[in-house]
Amino acid sequence: MSNVLFAALSALVLIGLVYRAASLFTFTAVVGLVALGFYGLGGLGQTGLVVFAAIYVPVALLLNVAGLRRAVLSAPIFKAFSKALPAMSQTEKDALEAGDTWWEAEMFGGKPEWSKLMNVKFTELTADEKSFLENETEQLCKMVDDWKVSFELKDLPEEVWNFMRKNKFFAMLISKEHGGLGFSPYAQSCVVAKIATRSLTASVTVMVPNSLGPGELIMHYGTDEQKKYWLPRLVDGTEIPCFGLTGPEVGSDASAIPDTGVVVKRKVNGKEELGIMLNFSKRYITLAPVATVVGLAFKLKDPNGLLGDPNKTEYGITCALLEANTPGVEIGRRHYPGAAFMNGPIFGKDVYIPLTSIIGGREMAGKGWRMLVECLSAGRGISLPALSAASGWGMYLATGAYARIRRQFKLPIGKFEGVQEATGKIAGLTYKLEASRILTATACAECAPSVITAMMKFHMTEMMREIILRSMDVHGGRTVILGPRNYLGQAYQAMPVAITVEGANIMTRNLIVFGQGAIRCHPWVLKEMQAAQNPNKAEGLRDFDKAFFGHLGHIVNRAIRALVLGLTGNRLAKSPVSGEMAPYAKAIERRSAALAFTADVAMGVLGGELKRRERLSARLGDVLSHLYMASAVIKYYETNGRSAEELVHAKWALEDSLAEIDKALNEFNRNFPNKAVGRLLSFVAFPFGMGKCKGPSDSLNADAAELLMTRNVFAERLLDKVFVGEGSSDPTGRILEAADKLLSIEPGYSNFLKAVSSGKVVGDGLEAQLKDAVEKRVIDAALAQGIREFEPMRFDAILTDDFSKEYLASAGAIPDVKMNVKPVVEYREAA
Ligand SMILES: Cc1cc2nc3c(=O)[nH]c(=O)nc-3n(C[C@H](O)[C@H](O)[C@H](O)COP(=O)(O)OP(=O)(O)OC[C@H]3O[C@@H](n4cnc5c(N)ncnc54)[C@H](O)[C@@H]3O)c2cc1C
Repeated sequence: MSNVLFAALSALVLIGLVYRAASLFTFTAVVGLVALGFYGLGGLGQTGLVVFAAIYVPVALLLNVAGLRRAVLSAPIFKAFSKALPAMSQTEKDALEAGDTWWEAEMFGGKPEWSKLMNVKFTELTADEKSFLENETEQLCKMVDDWKVSFELKDLPEEVWNFMRKNKFFAMLISKEHGGLGFSPYAQSCVVAKIATRSLTASVTVMVPNSLGPGELIMHYGTDEQKKYWLPRLVDGTEIPCFGLTGPEVGSDASAIPDTGVVVKRKVNGKEELGIMLNFSKRYITLAPVATVVGLAFKLKDPNGLLGDPNKTEYGITCALLEANTPGVEIGRRHYPGAAFMNGPIFGKDVYIPLTSIIGGREMAGKGWRMLVECLSAGRGISLPALSAASGWGMYLATGAYARIRRQFKLPIGKFEGVQEATGKIAGLTYKLEASRILTATACAECAPSVITAMMKFHMTEMMREIILRSMDVHGGRTVILGPRNYLGQAYQAMPVAITVEGANIMTRNLIVFGQGAIRCHPWVLKEMQAAQNPNKAEGLRDFDKAFFGHLGHIVNRAIRALVLGLTGNRLAKSPVSGEMAPYAKAIERRSAALAFTADVAMGVLGGELKRRERLSARLGDVLSHLYMASAVIKYYETNGRSAEELVHAKWALEDSLAEIDKALNEFNRNFPNKAVGRLLSFVAFPFGMGKCKGPSDSLNADAAELLMTRNVFAERLLDKVFVGEGSSDPTGRILEAADKLLSIEPGYSNFLKAVSSGKVVGDGLEAQLKDAVEKRVIDAALAQGIREFEPMRFDAILTDDFSKEYLASAGAIPDVKMNVKPVVEYREAA
């Protein structure tokens, strides 16, 4: 064998070893064997072998003898690393360590073990949960008239509040043991989403007690007495809870709240007790105007050491239960956030509460921030994704229906390519939303996934925003004009609420997703940090040595993996499934390796600076988020039977996510401050040039847009989830009934219209034209009857509302008298 051939084979073997993540010992041994091989072939002389051995032996010993490696290599690196590690406040540490990682950690790791995803069983509804959706939830939807609520009453009617209380809508997350409904995250998501398809105000009202707030905090951390007293009262609606964290001075940077609670001694009913004197100013608090109990976040101080530790005066963020009628509390005024759900400020001056009000009791003093971060997943991972998916469901069905019914230039508007750009997008994004909602709700049932829920909070609410905007465009004036016929205007008005709450979107994308994800999901970084912070230095060094060399191996392996997968056109990547999804799974796997390498290099080169480089870190967060959502789409498609109609949706969603990933990586590499490193990253991720995924093609988009206008399998599934009232009692029902009727008379209806347009069918008015068309056998009598029934439905579906000046000026107090709008009929002189 020639030396050149041997060199090529050796290189392949060594690359193969790195690709397969062989151990350091195996790799070192094979390097030695390769050198001996060269020597045997004459490619390396005696002197060469001696020189090689002089370098190889000490390096091999240094790397493979643990004690030696720790003393010579790891110890100085450990020292430098510990020094360079930015000091972290307890709050930051709590936030980092709170919550769990799940499937997204596989994506971040760069070598996903697909079986973990494929073995996940989507949560299914229990018989009780199903019945609650079909009965109580359906009934609640029927009781709400969203226009009356949002414009006339600016509140839910009393009977709706009572119905919610009586049927435990506010206690879905409280366990059965405590009298609550004890619903799974998926069931909670389905209930909130269904209500949202009828009324945003009603769904937010249900959402809040079932996400971060007194109920969840008491369930997780409450003392036995707190559980015994508060939970039954929250379950039957005697108490309405709200949660007060935000104030005028702090929103996103909530850990900096200026609100204080000072530990004091007081005589109460003749007995001396420890208590807290609160001073606070909160705003934007949902349900505050009607709340009877506030979960209040403040900074606890103990200047006189009354809690027993004279050296500890600052305890930090603490959460306590505050009864709304406590002297010194001002509550009840309302903000008006573009929808009628209750929201308002709370102010407190020298408000006294006993120390037992701290949620979880005295030992939870100062642990408020950790509690909040751990409990955030309910809002971020369940309620807001449910709201976002519900917007997708509703708009998929209603916009699809309207695009088919509304005709301009003698065609349904949904047939124009420009409109299809929007409607195809609505179809694909709704599919992505639904796949992500179900996977994330399942994750929330298994653990408290802090990274996934931050990713979904941002991306799902942004997809919702996009769907609402595109739907507004497709509807034109039909949804600009507010009123009882409008099924979209309210969502458009209140959309910024979802974008802002539970971590405003810009901050969530730029600061949290990658900032938290990089450390939590990385197989080694958190271990390195924990080792550096270990007060037992010897133990710390041992852990650090393991983590640091594991980390180095990880970087090299992921670089080679990404490069090899790129050079072989993803052929060596694994797919958990065969068929149409396989190439997508392989493309995802390759990009996962590229992300792992890119993230490590970025952290290595920029260090702590990466946190401030939000434009860069946000892009890596986007890559991780889209890898997660793309894998959710594969899982959802495979679980739902792989139909051809579903395939179009799944492909659209996957093409879109892959394009977003490539765009994010390209932009990251192009803008990386060190240009040479940027080029290296680009070469590893995309050896044949920049990321090539460009998003759904025109023809895929057209297929998705056409499906949106039909009753396909995905649409049928959505129909089972949304609330649809009958005809004119419900704005969505009206348009869907008309679209169903139209579908039942197509394609004959279009042929009839074409015949009228070409002059083949003539007649003065619809009746005469139908008669002529039947006589000329363009349509049969049954179809003529169908068209006769459809025409008034069509006209009714395109109408908007108008009001008397008095009704508008009095916000509904002076009843309206409706004008009867009819189709235009041309004037004809009598014969
Ligand atoms: C309708 C509604 C209901 C709410 N309900 C509640 C409730 O029940 N309880 C409660 O305690 N709070 C509630 N909130 C408060 C909500 O959580 C805050 O509005 C949110 O945290 C943002 O704070 P802010 O509005 O003060 O915006 P700011 O913090 O002033 O932020 C303004 C902008 O700057 C961006 N930004 C800030 N810091 C960064 C950063 N480091 N990097 C990048 N971008 C950044 C934000 O993303 C945002 O776009 C509610 C708010 C609304 C509007």
